[in-house]
Amino acid sequence: MQKILISGCLLGAKVRYNGEGKLIEHTLVNQWIKEGRFVSVCPEMAGGLPTPRPAAEMRGHQVLTKQGADVTAAFQKGAEIALKLCQQHGIKLAILKARSPSCGNEAIYDGTFSGRTITGQGVTAALLTANGIRVFNEDQLLDAAAFLDGPEAV
Ligand code: SF4
Repeated sequence: MQKILISGCLLGAKVRYNGEGKLIEHTLVNQWIKEGRFVSVCPEMAGGLPTPRPAAEMRGHQVLTKQGADVTAAFQKGAEIALKLCQQHGIKLAILKARSPSCGNEAIYDGTFSGRTITGQGVTAALLTANGIRVFNEDQLLDAAAFLDGPEAV
């Protein structure tokens, strides 16, 4: 059965920078949990960052906290661990948290900590995409289900 990589916070794990989770309640998610499809990861914690932790945003290829600390290396390490998990489980599909500097698949915060977003991908989403893994966010579950049923996921 095709497994799905998922951001840990979307399953309710309290791994976000603010110590909270972001559980998605959806029949598809419940079905995939029952089927045992999910492989869960929080790339930022996997990269060695604590929870809670200072908020960070991408600025170009760097990831910086609001105070200016460069946390790029931890984000990259977490992305590599997420990719390795995908490779170990033969995963072709990921559902990652929208707009995160790690997990965002189409938009990310713009680096000014003002809540504005720009087109772009977080560090993990970009690495997975570059390695042929399709990345959806929590607002694209129907698209993810269609992909899972299609020929690319076989
Ligand atoms: S790195 Fe991804 S999984 Fe971890 S808290 Fe942020 S959005 Fe959720």
